[in-house]
Amino acid sequence: MSQEIYVVIEHLRGQVADISYVMLAAARALTQGIGGEVVGVLLGHNEQKLAGNLAADQVLYFDHPALAEFTSDAYQKALASLIKEKAPRAVLFGSTSIGADVASVLSARLDLPIVTLCRSFSADGKYVSQICGGKIMAEGDLPEPTALVTMIPGEFKPEEGQSDQPPNVTPVAVPALEELRVRLVGYVEPEAGDVDISQESILISVGRGVQTEDNVELAEELAELLGGVVCASRPVVDQGWLPTSRMVGKSGKTVKPKLYLAMGISGAPEHVEAITESGMIIAINTDPDAPIFDIAQYGAEVDLLDLTEVLIELIEEA
Ligand SMILES: Cc1cc2nc3c(=O)[nH]c(=O)nc-3n(C[C@H](O)[C@H](O)[C@H](O)COP(=O)(O)OP(=O)(O)OC[C@H]3O[C@@H](n4cnc5c(N)ncnc54)[C@H](O)[C@@H]3O)c2cc1C
Repeated sequence: MSQEIYVVIEHLRGQVADISYVMLAAARALTQGIGGEVVGVLLGHNEQKLAGNLAADQVLYFDHPALAEFTSDAYQKALASLIKEKAPRAVLFGSTSIGADVASVLSARLDLPIVTLCRSFSADGKYVSQICGGKIMAEGDLPEPTALVTMIPGEFKPEEGQSDQPPNVTPVAVPALEELRVRLVGYVEPEAGDVDISQESILISVGRGVQTEDNVELAEELAELLGGVVCASRPVVDQGWLPTSRMVGKSGKTVKPKLYLAMGISGAPEHVEAITESGMIIAINTDPDAPIFDIAQYGAEVDLLDLTEVLIELIEEA
């Protein structure tokens, strides 16, 4: 078993996903604790250029037409052969649709342990996972021999996993990729929606704590006064109170506003991963232990309806 930490580089349509850089930064922190090297694992076709700014000691590159677009089938086959042969200490995947799909199947097929929702590693190499909707941080030894780990953002910024020094890229022999059972037919673009929340600089975001559809109107009023727009956590969209185009999170959009006002949102990992690049997060929640307060710069432990009404009054007066 080697001490190498592999990071499976997630990318889509010519762009490296931010989670890949976050994982490289986490892998670096882990190697500082337990030694070893950070190794990026890139799969694609004519995509070697994507390795250019990865902060890795080296990059292993699988190039094959069957890897031109992500399919779980092809990724699993390629990664299974590499992991079996090299037995790295850990393999990091994004806790994303892509990463969770591949990592879980590899865990079953290779009979390797999997750690999910890992946010960081301690100085002595323990994993720290954010579980139970973000309410509990669980710490443990990285299981042996090779730990498969799905990672969530929050601890590291994407910039920390980028480098001006291109890493050495080593081509890896691709195993037979015939008889794949899945192929990409095409991409289905999400509905354009009324506004693109990923481009807005002020977002008033409502969660289940808003309680009723009528109360969403109060948030709309506040957003209008502040020159922003309303977006929401998944339960609010699932209720049909706002369209899917306004959903923030793993199943919705990643946002980077200057101000993210989170009202009645608990701070589940699937929501938080999409707001970490916000300039400022202000959380309003009646529960002082809500995990959203861990990432908010400012917070108020107060009923959001009371506060919204007061805010509207004050802004109108001003
Ligand atoms: C695969 C997967 C994908 C997912 N994708 C997403 C996604 O894209 N986006 C997303 O948001 N979620 C997503 N989720 C769901 C996620 O796990 C959480 O369930 C969800 O984010 C919780 O939404 P919430 O914070 O609004 O509700 P809750 O967790 O119920 O929190 C409501 C909060 O409101 C507070 N509150 C209640 N009343 C008041 C009041 N009057 N004033 C102030 N505060 C109040 C409560 O204290 C609580 O903290 C996903 C889950 C899975 C499994």
